[in-house]
Amino acid sequence: MSAYEVVRPIWRRFKPAYLTRAAAHVHAGGHAVIVRDDDALDMILGVDEKGKITELGLWSILAIEQQRWRRVTSGPAKGLAMARVKVDYEGSVLDWCDRDSVHEGPARRIKLDCLECAACCHESNVVLDEADLERFTEGGRADLLGRAYIKRARDGRITLRFAETGKCQHLGRDKKCRIYTIRPDNCRAFVVGSEACLAAREDTLGYRDG
Ligand code: SF4
Ligand code: SF4
Repeated sequence: MSAYEVVRPIWRRFKPAYLTRAAAHVHAGGHAVIVRDDDALDMILGVDEKGKITELGLWSILAIEQQRWRRVTSGPAKGLAMARVKVDYEGSVLDWCDRDSVHEGPARRIKLDCLECAACCHESNVVLDEADLERFTEGGRADLLGRAYIKRARDGRITLRFAETGKCQHLGRDKKCRIYTIRPDNCRAFVVGSEACLAAREDTLGYRDG
């Protein structure tokens, strides 16, 4: 499947005095940013029924190179996920809020077709593991294990070799992946509608949203 309908959270910024409203926004499916009095930013993100951070929430913190989050233990946001925004990414997170300020409600339904898009097939770091290499071989493409297609770092890390233009070598002129059925797990794992996806679409295609 390449076409998806995604309900993505809308980002809103709140002052600490409006934490109850922020928590309600997150409970309704949105993402909240608390702008503290010292200008530090905290994200408040949703959790699933098991208390795990939602997939789009997790990808939002990964997009700003933050891997840690904590569950709020008291107050209006109790039970929700909270993560501090690193200083270097405060501008990006506030930009998400600005981008979403034109949308009403806590969430927004968008349609995305990966085979028509391919934005994340540019300037990406696609790490390969043994399962990927086996899939290439079993798919009749043992040639993909050659130096023309992959890079092996001294630490053993294997990645796809991209063209100098920044485009993946497997991306056709029709914007379709030529090895789609045997593409690496990294490519499969990229979450459609995540902030990383939206950023790739904005950087490569110029689409500000969706
Ligand atoms: S950027 Fe998003 S919509 Fe485009 S191909 Fe990648 S995951 Fe699919
Ligand atoms: S292997 Fe296919 S899906 Fe992965 S980056 Fe290259 S063109 Fe995109």
